[in-house]
Amino acid sequence: MNADLGEAPMEAFRHFWEQQWYILGHSVTQFETEYARWNGTSFCVGVANGLDALHLALRALQIGPGDEVLVPSNTYIATWLAVSQVGARIVPVEPDIRTYNLDPGLLEAAIGPATKAILPVHLYGQACDMTAIMRIAEKHGLYVVEDNAQAHGAVHAGKMTGSFGHLNATSFYPTKNLGALGDAGALTTDDPALAEQIRLLRNYGSSRKYYNEVPGYNSRLDELQAALLSVKLPFLEKWTAQRRQIAEWYHAHLSDIEGIILPQVSDTTAHVWHQYVIRTDRRDELAAGLAAEGIGTMIHYPLPPHLQQAYRELGYQRGDFPLAETIADTCLSLPMYPGLTEEEVTRIATLQHGLHR
Ligand SMILES: *Cc1c(COP(=O)(O)O)cnc(C)c1O
Repeated sequence: MNADLGEAPMEAFRHFWEQQWYILGHSVTQFETEYARWNGTSFCVGVANGLDALHLALRALQIGPGDEVLVPSNTYIATWLAVSQVGARIVPVEPDIRTYNLDPGLLEAAIGPATKAILPVHLYGQACDMTAIMRIAEKHGLYVVEDNAQAHGAVHAGKMTGSFGHLNATSFYPTKNLGALGDAGALTTDDPALAEQIRLLRNYGSSRKYYNEVPGYNSRLDELQAALLSVKLPFLEKWTAQRRQIAEWYHAHLSDIEGIILPQVSDTTAHVWHQYVIRTDRRDELAAGLAAEGIGTMIHYPLPPHLQQAYRELGYQRGDFPLAETIADTCLSLPMYPGLTEEEVTRIATLQHGLHR
């Protein structure tokens, strides 16, 4: 992956070094323009990280105490933390067990008079059913904030994720499909007023230096990270194609193993394979067996947010969100990164054949 970039990152750094402009300069503006165009939205506003992007989205939509936000029961904790940070109430909704994404069929039952927004997460790189989610949101007058941290470039019904919701958050954490060399994030939107609000909030609530219009935050996209993201963005399609090829290899080599559930791609989406996640009742055994052969796997995620100590005051117990719990207990993310070869995939698959006998 890095080899594709050649000297370009060093040149970007040299330019940054000579420019001596470190905060909210030309590189941030340029990346915002490029990313908005690439994502098919009118605006992109860079922020410090993905969690801040989610948090500032909810702030800009004036969601706070007394409001409820629907979130997936199976997600990275950042999705939940953003809702907590604005003081709103988290209302978890279970996923479709086939796609691991929000089940639109369960959304309406979770909507009440205090519901203000739906926060769908395109988990593992697969787009949610945004047609259904947007229809439900419109019917009930709710905002939609997409969490697009894992799905740069995923498509639903011909449109890219990050371009459906009123205000959408993403992360460029180094391991994401488009990753910076440190923390970075962004929001995308077609709404000029919301884009302006985010610009204020990320920079102390100020558009004119030392005059503050709202109580804001310091959550600016770093100038150097923006320059490096601009270097990487043109390669994203190529890297996504490599991820898709790897997913096909896994599928071909693993589909005849009994007891392993392979990822299912819904027919309205183009998956970008942030993770290749299988499920098996013998997950821990399989992970240990692979580890013994030097193959690192991950669990995304071992404990759902409702069972985290951080959320014990919400009073949830095991059994409250059984699908999220089943996924946490059985999921295993196999190695997935551009540059992984067919030989390596075949070796990983062969080991699994042995371990599942
Ligand atoms: C990575 C991630 C985030 C948070 O991004 P950071 O940049 O690490 O703050 C939020 N939501 C999901 C689903 C993620 O995968």
